[in-house]
Amino acid sequence: MKLSIRLLLLGILSVGSGPGMFPGAILHACAAEATASGDAETEKIRRIVKEVLGEYASSLNDGKQAAHGAGNEILGEIRRDNRNFVRGHGPAYFKPFLDSQHPRATVITCSDSRVHTHALDATPDGDLFMVRNIGNQLATAEGSVEYGVHHLHTPLLLIVGHSACGAIKAAAGDYSQESPAIRRELDTLQVPKGDPGMVSIKLNVNAQVRAAMTKFEPEVLSGHLAVVGAVYDFTNELKQGQGKLDIINVNGETDAAKIATLALMKEAPEAKAKAASHSRAAKKAAAKEGETEEDSAPDEKTPSKHEKSARKTSH
Ligand SMILES: [Zn+2]
Repeated sequence: MKLSIRLLLLGILSVGSGPGMFPGAILHACAAEATASGDAETEKIRRIVKEVLGEYASSLNDGKQAAHGAGNEILGEIRRDNRNFVRGHGPAYFKPFLDSQHPRATVITCSDSRVHTHALDATPDGDLFMVRNIGNQLATAEGSVEYGVHHLHTPLLLIVGHSACGAIKAAAGDYSQESPAIRRELDTLQVPKGDPGMVSIKLNVNAQVRAAMTKFEPEVLSGHLAVVGAVYDFTNELKQGQGKLDIINVNGETDAAKIATLALMKEAPEAKAKAASHSRAAKKAAAKEGETEEDSAPDEKTPSKHEKSARKTSH
């Protein structure tokens, strides 16, 4: 009797296992079944049920502990890395952007863990206003992008797609079984069904550039904003170098030969690029501060001597 009840309970628990199980109901059902055998038998069954449920709860806890263990390890590594970062960066490092931020570019990239700022900027702190989501899109992050363009006045909006993009792959396939939240993000990616590769990745970047140019038309037309589309090719699918940022669209221009001739594409000399832009931007930002203060967000009002942006783009 004892063994058969134990096995029955284990069977129920393994079939209906999970935090949503209803131990009280099981206990009640088993106890009711046993009343015919008398009070002593009922008590015995109650004890067995409690023991089995105890073992079950303990096994669940073991699972949670294992999951927490992995999380603890990862968080431990993150905290260690941050401790090293704190040690390696004194107050002087943060001083240029301590009171305000003046990024040079608003950048929309995919959330993909293989796409990061260090591929675009050796010192991205205070320099890139990053907006990330699956599929590097404007539609689901419009407020963030608008903040970068309208409040931080970045002269460049860079939209970065990438090789082997899971979001594009998903959008090109059947994602009807995904959660409503994920479906909403994928619905906004306009890519043809059945093509999960580079063609769709580029089509999406171009579509995002078009959407951004429509949204920020006054800024683009007045020359205050350049909208640039690019593909970060960490798989070297385009055979231009692994990790290359391939510029495929500049303000709607997608002809590679024409793009190459644009002033915007002129590469800055090594190391001097930021210093030059700092001093140029600092002058303009100081002048600009007076005319656009009401347009700034509350935490953006104090100009830094390392102001980087506010320069008109040439394209
Ligand atoms: Zn992606």
